[in-house]
Amino acid sequence: MEIKSFVFNPIQENTYVVWDETKECVVIDAGNMSAREDRILADFIEEQGLKPVMAVNTHCHFDHILGVEFVRETYGAKFAASSADNAIMLGSKSHCAMFGLEVGELPETIDIDLASTEELHFGDTTLRVIPTPGHTPGGVALLHEESKSLFTGDTLFRECIGRTDLPGGDYPTIMKSILGNILPLGDEVTIYPGHGEKSNIGHESLYNAFVVEALNGEVNF
Ligand SMILES: [Zn+2]
Repeated sequence: MEIKSFVFNPIQENTYVVWDETKECVVIDAGNMSAREDRILADFIEEQGLKPVMAVNTHCHFDHILGVEFVRETYGAKFAASSADNAIMLGSKSHCAMFGLEVGELPETIDIDLASTEELHFGDTTLRVIPTPGHTPGGVALLHEESKSLFTGDTLFRECIGRTDLPGGDYPTIMKSILGNILPLGDEVTIYPGHGEKSNIGHESLYNAFVVEALNGEVNF
């Protein structure tokens, strides 16, 4: 499986294109929001000869869904996200207005509900859907077991964790997701977060202050 990352929109969000030798691909957290960013994404897909079959989202905050309709309409791709983030998805237009962002169409419906999906398949590739609520109620991580790659969205960053002060966020819940569902995947798993540089679980267990204080029992949750 191959991975290409882009940084899109004013929130500096990571969008990932993931594909295999069949050339089918998925776009994880399509955050492209301008004609220029649409073009950058589309040019890459064309140069590589890829066929996007799904826009898959780790969660539905506006900075992660700005390009979903572009992917859905341009390629006839399905939109996979958790219905537990429906309210957040539907509120994202007004959220963008608060940030003064002029945006195009945003998704209002989900084609594949990750709240009730254990695995996603494209080409010869399987991504396991791992529930990671806390940053949002419908947050998920996506695991490719063979390459030990984990797309963590805004749940776990390099040496940081996602905000829990936004509507639907909850600190005890995100810590339970990280300690219960992410760390057990193993130190050697590479994490591809929704913002910032990639990392791995071993590094986070040692150097992520939020994770370390929770592992040491220094915080209650
Ligand atoms: Zn977010």
